[in-house]
Amino acid sequence: MKIHEYQAKQLLKAAGVPVPPGFVARSGAEAAEAFTKLGGPIAVVKSQIHAGGRGKGRFKEHPDLGGVKLVRSAEEASQIATQMLGSTLVTIQTGPAGKQVSAVYVEGGLEIARELYLGVVVDRDVAGPVLMISSEGGMDIEEVAAHSPEKILKEKIDVLAGLHGFQARKLAFALGLEGNQIKSAESFLQKMVRFFIDSDCSMAEINPLVLTKSGEMFALDAKVTFDSNALYRHKNYEPLRDLSEEDASEVRATTAGLSFVKLDGNIGCLVNGAGLAMSTMDVIKLHGGEPANFLDVGGGANVDQVTEAFRIILGDPNVKAILVNIFGGIMQCTTIAEALLIAYEKVGITVPLVVRLEGSQVEAGRKMLDESGRRIISATDLADAATKVVASLGA
Ligand code: ADP
Ligand code: MG
Repeated sequence: MKIHEYQAKQLLKAAGVPVPPGFVARSGAEAAEAFTKLGGPIAVVKSQIHAGGRGKGRFKEHPDLGGVKLVRSAEEASQIATQMLGSTLVTIQTGPAGKQVSAVYVEGGLEIARELYLGVVVDRDVAGPVLMISSEGGMDIEEVAAHSPEKILKEKIDVLAGLHGFQARKLAFALGLEGNQIKSAESFLQKMVRFFIDSDCSMAEINPLVLTKSGEMFALDAKVTFDSNALYRHKNYEPLRDLSEEDASEVRATTAGLSFVKLDGNIGCLVNGAGLAMSTMDVIKLHGGEPANFLDVGGGANVDQVTEAFRIILGDPNVKAILVNIFGGIMQCTTIAEALLIAYEKVGITVPLVVRLEGSQVEAGRKMLDESGRRIISATDLADAATKVVASLGA
């Protein structure tokens, strides 16, 4: 689950990580009030969307305005916020459609001496979290990783102890910090890592992480993603969820108990089991097709779930064919066939539908589909199903 920058900063602040003072605003008047409370002389008005690259992004409605803007008066804060609110910001991460801004964060402007990069991610190679830090902050870290990976320093995190003092100092020295900057960095890094562990983050990125002229370290940006599987331990994070930032079909699927990820292809997939869903997507691609989604209806797929799954898949205008790949392990294929036929009737499927069933009572299940009089293309195995669904696109 992703959250907004202003929400992440409230949590970071509570965890003792230094962030500049700031207020969220949903109108020009609120932005002006925020500027006055901050006391000037400068502040930054920042568009709140679940995507990065805001600084370099541009508004569709205001091509000269970026997603992060320095302001010098309450009037200017109000004017900029009014332009941003309700407008669509396009950044390298939003895709061409952009994202509509419904809140801005008005933050005190800092006197930046150095912009650094900090990221904490879960690294498969070390089977745990890793703290990454780089002197090349503020710019595209992907470029740094691709062209000068040696500029990214890494420390493996001990999840019980957190970041050790010696690890923090090692990084501070490697960044060339001096004097009180080192103490400031040590405290910042340790608290940041503690926050990551205690809140079950899957990713936390501070870019830029800044050093002020007086040697203090501050989080100037904050991108935090929580591990959704651990959210049950953090009921207080529930209100932070912004459904308007999430894909509507994914939200609908979650409500129906389906695991669904929208993709860009044109073959809708309805599968039971995450592993089977992954291999179905692979095999579709192997046969020259492009999956439109990942959809796992789970082990005990029932009529309601299958119906809702078809509706979600067909809600995507790109979908030109559907492949159902279900293994009757817990359920018998006859039960699945029955659910498919009822859902077919209810939803009114208009695109080619290829069904591959396997498992218990498979012969009887296939027979039910074949004799149903519906336009259902039967497949015997996964390769056959993929071949048939790709062929149906050209038909
Ligand atoms: P994004 O990563 O989405 O572009 P950031 O929060 O990193 O958004 O802001 C972009 C740039 O704006 C930063 O690299 C920094 O130079 C500047 N900036 C952001 N917040 C402040 C602030 N409070 N004071 C001064 N400059 C800021
Ligand atoms: Mg940033």
